[in-house]
Amino acid sequence: MAEIIRCPACGVSNRVRDDYRGVPLCGKCKKPLPLKDAPRLRILTTDNFESSIRLNPRPMLVDFWAAWCLPCRQMAKALEKFAAAHPGITVAKVDTDAEPGLASQFQIFSIPTLIMFVKGREVHRVSGAMGEKELEAAFQPWAQEK
Ligand SMILES: [Zn+2]
Repeated sequence: MAEIIRCPACGVSNRVRDDYRGVPLCGKCKKPLPLKDAPRLRILTTDNFESSIRLNPRPMLVDFWAAWCLPCRQMAKALEKFAAAHPGITVAKVDTDAEPGLASQFQIFSIPTLIMFVKGREVHRVSGAMGEKELEAAFQPWAQEK
């Protein structure tokens, strides 16, 4: 599936796949396209985890989750809203079924588990499903940075 997003800068219509991760750029003028929905969250794998975490100058909140986990799925919307409200934080997801190596490296014993990384270091961790207000409270020190 794909959606058509019109570029506000040059007016060209762009086809953006629904499973696109990150901010899509206009094919013609390369400016970022506005997303209709909440921002798509970055998907981390063994291949891109280290580089994503280390190279990111911003705080990075990683959601360790799995598709079969109902609380994880229930939290997904709140997490997307949190990401939209705090552009200074990069929010990403690790599918623990697809990435058992990462799950064991970070000793994920229950899901969902959210870990905040700053410059590649774990600074805070919370387990269990949370709503928007709980997310705000748990990650408030980093949410204030713009
Ligand atoms: Zn454009």
